[in-house]
This record gives sequence, structure tokens and C-alpha cells, in this order.
Amino acid sequence: MSENPLPSIDPRDKAEILAQALPYIRRFHGKTLVIKYGGNAMTDPALQADFAEDVVLLKLVGMNPVVVHGGGPQIETALNRLGKKGEFVQGMRVTDAETMEVVEWVLAGEVQQDIVGLINQAGGKAVGLTGRDGGMIRARKLRMLDNKDPSVEHDVGQVGDIVSIDPSVVKALQDDAFIPVVSPIGFGENNESYNINADVVASKLATVLGAEKLVLLTNTPGVLNKAGELLTDLTAREIDELFADGTISGGMLPKISGALDAAKSGVNAVHIIDGRVPHAMLLEILTDQAYGTMIRSH
Ligand code: ADP
Ligand code: MG
Repeated sequence: MSENPLPSIDPRDKAEILAQALPYIRRFHGKTLVIKYGGNAMTDPALQADFAEDVVLLKLVGMNPVVVHGGGPQIETALNRLGKKGEFVQGMRVTDAETMEVVEWVLAGEVQQDIVGLINQAGGKAVGLTGRDGGMIRARKLRMLDNKDPSVEHDVGQVGDIVSIDPSVVKALQDDAFIPVVSPIGFGENNESYNINADVVASKLATVLGAEKLVLLTNTPGVLNKAGELLTDLTAREIDELFADGTISGGMLPKISGALDAAKSGVNAVHIIDGRVPHAMLLEILTDQAYGTMIRSH
């Protein structure tokens, strides 16, 4: 965050840029926007501060941003300190009991509180929640079938599959001008904890909140084809093809499936964008500039 990052822009151009945001502010006024902040998009402190400012700006012009955060790299660092190494199956972190403990304290204790602090510092009123708060995210153990051979089931430990989301606590906070910041942890029938992929939580939360937009910030320019070129627009059929030919792998698997589910369930605009670009979210929401990959339901 530099003092004056746009010194070379003519004041008239600056005014023009600001004025051009008006139709977008009008369109999204009072609407809910669910924003997934990775994991991998949040490792740079300057970008984190920019992100927090963007969230506050959106709130102050009358939108209802809800932040869901990830924490892959942060969990990895904590596990390494304990001499453990993360293991993934089809984009999901294998979560034994010890890993679950680490996941809970890193996500709810560290990453979530960092984001809450930054948003508050930028002038917003953020409140951190896990899926336990207000009984928000009910989960059960994910039964993961192999992508290629569905007769094979992988045991990924305490990875959660969402049973239901009760968004009433999020709504109550929104009505009171707070900005909810949600850690992707769910609870089961016996009050056990589940580690849920943050993209999956963001997508489902966007659906149950009837969000206007879902923005998934990540560490690539968007979805890339085999040649490494950005795919600006994807339909359900095209996504099936990318799954089938192996173009999509790792963390992009739950991201795209979640995004597609949200698009099919009525979330109007679903975007996967590059969180490493300063103010990427602001550009996506308040300008006519198209960034990253837009996911369409058909
Ligand atoms: P995040 O923390 O944002 O969820 P993930 O690592 O879980 O990040 O998911 C994003 C990663 O998915 C990218 O960094 C990339 O390594 C991987 N990936 C796999 N297939 C693709 C693809 N076709 N296009 C872009 N990224 C892909
Ligand atoms: Mg991920």
C-alpha cells in the first residue's frame, strides 16, 4: 500500500474512472457478494491490506460482502513446524486428528483474525466466525470416490462434506453493518470438527444467501487450458471436458465444481480471478474490465 500509487494519472481521468463505477454501485447496492480469499492469494501483506480496503469500500457503498477464507500455505507452514507434511487427494487435504487440530487453530486463530484485524484497520467492522457459530455449517465425513475409478474410495480423514448451511448468523451480522469473515470449519452430529475446502464453503454459502456474485480469488490468472492460456469464459459442458482430459487438477478441482454448482443454483455471476493483482476484486466488481474466468451455468 503506497501513499499515492497513481501519481501519473490525470485528475480528469481519475474523476472519469470514479464516475464509471456508479452503474456498478447502483446494480450491486444492497446485494450480497461472497468473496473467497485464498490461501494462496493472501501471502503478501501489501495485497492483504489492499484486499481489506476493497472489502470496506464495497461495504461503505452499500453492498454486503461476506468473506470466506482459506489457508493452505499457512496450514502447511504450521504442519511443517510439527514435522508433518501435508498430503492431498484430488485437491483435498488428508486430515488426520492432529492435522485437524492444526487446521482449526491456523484457520480460526490465525488467518481469520488477521483478516478481521486488517478489515477493522481499514475502517470496517469485521466479525470472525467458524461454521460452528450460530450452528452455521453442518457437515459429515466426505466419502471421496476416485475420479477415474469410482469403485475406489479414498479415506481423507476429517474432510467434511456440507450437509446444510444455516446462514441466519451471517444475515444478522449483515443487517447490523458488520462484515462476516468465515473460516471453513464445520461440525458433525457428535460435535466433531470437519475441515472443509474453502471454495466449497464459499460456493454453498453464496447459494444459500442468494448472493448476486461469487468471486474466488486465487493465485493464477484464472482457469488455464493445457497451453497455459487463460479461459475467460466457461460453460458446464466445457468444464466437463476440462475435467475429463485432466486440464483441471489439484485445488482447481473443488474450486471449479463449487463455482459451477453456485452458477447452476442461481448465483448470477461467478468469477475466478487473480488475487495477486492489486485491487483485483475492485476492478472485477466496479469496472467493465473482465478479469479471470467467468463460470456459466449452461
Ligand atoms: P487457493 O488457495 O486459491 O484455493 P489452490 O492451490 O487450492 O489455491 O488452487 C489453485 C491452483 O490450482 C493453482 O495454483 C494451480 O496450481 C492449480 N490448477 C490446476 N489446474 C489448473 C488450471 N487448469 N488452471 C489454473 N490452475 C490450475
Ligand atoms: Mg484451494
